[in-house]
Amino acid sequence: MAWRSHGSDNASLVEALRCNGLVTDARVEAALLKVDRGHFVRESAEAYEDAPQTIGSAATISAPHMHAHCLELLEPFLPAGGAALDVGSGSGYLTAVLSRLAGPGGRAVGVEHVGGLVEWSKGNLRKDPEMAERLKTGALAVHEADGREGWVPGAPYDVIHVGAAAPAIPPALVEQLKPGGRLVIPVGPEAGHQEMTVATKDAVSGEVRSEVVMGVRYVPLTDHAHQMQLARGDRA
Ligand code: SAH
Repeated sequence: MAWRSHGSDNASLVEALRCNGLVTDARVEAALLKVDRGHFVRESAEAYEDAPQTIGSAATISAPHMHAHCLELLEPFLPAGGAALDVGSGSGYLTAVLSRLAGPGGRAVGVEHVGGLVEWSKGNLRKDPEMAERLKTGALAVHEADGREGWVPGAPYDVIHVGAAAPAIPPALVEQLKPGGRLVIPVGPEAGHQEMTVATKDAVSGEVRSEVVMGVRYVPLTDHAHQMQLARGDRA
């Protein structure tokens, strides 16, 4: 399939995404080249395949083409020195790319409610000395919390990415978006049709305009107990 942009290492994966038209922006491409997806997966043999991969606890690292798509939607709204929030940060991969886009003077915050994933993601991030340094200075952080509430101490944000599907856009996330900022979030039921939704807050009026960009399939943005049921394979 044309959208399958497999690589054999990080550089060839990014090149495949570019050739397939999934990465068109030079800043996104540069940021992707600096973050090795191989640092953020459990199965390193499949690190550069254009497919989602399970990371345990009923979570997945999204497929590279989905990450690329979301980054392309967010990039124009995240200036160097800006602030980004990554809700359901899982592996920490997208948090790292957002940190790269925001640059050394910017901030990136991940929020993840599975404690084991928070610790694992910090270890993944520390494999890159620049990310290790940003974790030390606080320019990059991952917090164990319910991401439906956003992360108030770091607000407001230029961009917010949500890596799990919510039944509706959580109001706290809209509140924590800067005027002129953009939120990208899959919206829809846990089992059923979900829509990748882009919400942009007008810089002057503060009015929020939403549009659907495509149908998607994500794990749910849910409460911790329910996700643990899913992880055990219980029926909800
Ligand atoms: N962007 C991540 C996606 C991980 S999958 C990546 O590519 O690695 C979605 C993540 O959302 C999971 O790690 C899951 O634990 C987390 N999640 C689900 N509901 C959540 C909630 N209410 N608060 C915080 N994290 C949540």
